[in-house]
Amino acid sequence: MITIGYVIQKEYLNVLKIGGKIPQSFELGFAVRNDEPVLLGILEKALENIDENKRQAITNKWVNIKYENGFDYSLFWKIVIVFGLLFLFFGYRYSVVHRYNLQIKKNLEVIDKYVLFLHTDKKGIIIDVSEALCELSGYKKHELIGKSEKMLRHSDMSFCQSKECLSKITKNQAGEGELKNIKKDGATYWVYAQISPTFSQNGEVIGYSSFQTDITDKKRIEEISHTDQLTQIFNRLYLDRSLKIELSRVRRYKDNFFSIILMDIDFFKDINDSYGHTVGDSILKDIVRLVKDNIRESDVFGRWGGEEFLIICPNTTKEDTLLLAEKIRQKIQDYKFGLDITCTMSFGVAKYETSDDEDSIFLRVDKALYIAKNTGRNRVSSL
Ligand code: GH3
Ligand code: MG
Ligand code: MG
Repeated sequence: MITIGYVIQKEYLNVLKIGGKIPQSFELGFAVRNDEPVLLGILEKALENIDENKRQAITNKWVNIKYENGFDYSLFWKIVIVFGLLFLFFGYRYSVVHRYNLQIKKNLEVIDKYVLFLHTDKKGIIIDVSEALCELSGYKKHELIGKSEKMLRHSDMSFCQSKECLSKITKNQAGEGELKNIKKDGATYWVYAQISPTFSQNGEVIGYSSFQTDITDKKRIEEISHTDQLTQIFNRLYLDRSLKIELSRVRRYKDNFFSIILMDIDFFKDINDSYGHTVGDSILKDIVRLVKDNIRESDVFGRWGGEEFLIICPNTTKEDTLLLAEKIRQKIQDYKFGLDITCTMSFGVAKYETSDDEDSIFLRVDKALYIAKNTGRNRVSSL
């Protein structure tokens, strides 16, 4: 290297460069003839006496090799490839995540638009509400967020209507039930709500989320199918069902009982014949109002047919039911209907007996009414 360096420096400066080294190295050496061992000894001794610094100084005097380390392209390409692969990998991951995010965003938009949902904090303050629920209720999002969810609920609705639902919610489980709500314009709508508590990371309840379905139409159909169109009270279909429900309730819970009243307008045909059906209809409506004003909320009052009405009185003794029937009889007797018409009604009362089914109890009340009719009308009879 030293020899080549020296020659290059001397003869070919700026023309030749040493491009690389082979792994072998040939040490610089002296040679003496083998019949001159003394000279060999002298030379070796002389060389040994030259210290490292001196040696370097001698070398530097002859040659000044400038190493120019060439650029290591193989390392460069390795780095480029590694970074390229990393770039491709992260680019691909990004595009996958981005695609998912777009899909999630689209799904959330669809959910927001079509699914009725509401998130509240623990105190029922609305944190989030879907566009769909806003549209249904007639409120803008900003009008609901930060307000109590009570503003959406109809006044005769509790947070969770059914006892079962309420008990689940209070046990921090999900509950479901039908809710009557109120729109911004005061109209009512019904939803079927699935309410579940939301938890913090350490398991504490921090709020509630409610996913809802609009069941207003179903409720309306239900209502129509249960309602007598003229008087707007329950119809026979509903009374039949209520009687069955009441019977199963008293059979299930010991010490529960109920009584029923069957009532029929006296000589109603004559009223119709004298004043016409329209007047007859308005008398039916007035009677309904009078009865409604005198019964309890738990009583089920409906039109059994024509000019006959039935009242189911849960947990009411025969004596109390007789008193109630008598009170209603009196009110009707004393009432002046339109055109100053007066009319009376006859009443049959029957109390549930353990052997009863819906036919037997109805047969008894019908018999009692028959007796009232046949013993002068405008009276209350019982069996
Ligand atoms: P009673 O004291 O024996 O009950 O005599 P009544 O005339 O009331 O009994 P009846 O069964 O002979 O007649 C019932 C009448 O009720 C016949 C019908 O004109 C009338 N009625 C039934 N439904 C309606 C109704 O929806 N509107 C009107 N205006 N009348 C009705
Ligand atoms: Mg009648
Ligand atoms: Mg009748």
